[in-house]
Amino acid sequence: MYNYGIMTPKISQIIRSNRKTFSLEVKPDGRLIVRAPKAADDDLIKIMVAKKADWIVKTQSRLASQYPELAPPSFTPGEQFWYLGDKYPLKITDRQRPLLELDGAFYLSREAQDRAKEIFTEWYREETRKITADLIASYKIDDKFNVSQVHITSARTRWGSCSGKNNLNFTYRLSMAPLEVIDYVVVHELAHLKVRNHSKAFWDAVAQIKPDYKKHRKWLKDNGALLSLE
Ligand SMILES: [Zn+2]
Repeated sequence: MYNYGIMTPKISQIIRSNRKTFSLEVKPDGRLIVRAPKAADDDLIKIMVAKKADWIVKTQSRLASQYPELAPPSFTPGEQFWYLGDKYPLKITDRQRPLLELDGAFYLSREAQDRAKEIFTEWYREETRKITADLIASYKIDDKFNVSQVHITSARTRWGSCSGKNNLNFTYRLSMAPLEVIDYVVVHELAHLKVRNHSKAFWDAVAQIKPDYKKHRKWLKDNGALLSLE
């Protein structure tokens, strides 16, 4: 007998497909992904999840202790921050300008400490802007990609997107990832200028420019949750 009313863990995403069974996956950042048969309605899914509540909660707390870096940063000295796939410690400096500088460590001006998150966000935003602009420029030379505008967003779950008007969007978090991974995301969005969906033709277009793209896609899947200031 199960008491479904007591606690149903929060479901982050439901993926329905032609499968016959349910599967639950807890991501390192604690999100719960449910894979379910097409015919399963929301109530049935809730019941399946409630039955596994003990396992879900245990797994979430195990992952939380295994990945303390998934907690939001507190911007205290020694805390590590990503840039181009490497991590650098935070140091507080009495120097007033620049407010934030990367030189083997992230040097944050003491006077800016109370708005550290905002300053880090701006810093990553600017880096992402420069890096994606350079990468796009490098591809424009060989291929005729018709990019209108590039925007740097605060998207939390999407690394990049491509609008119908040929605008490309990238999240500021992208400059935390290795350069090769950023390059893959840029190529992915450029390929959408030619193929708007994720069909085989699309992935062929990506592979044509970046044959080893699967490796970088996997890196993002495995590490993406770590690249955050939230
Ligand atoms: Zn896409």
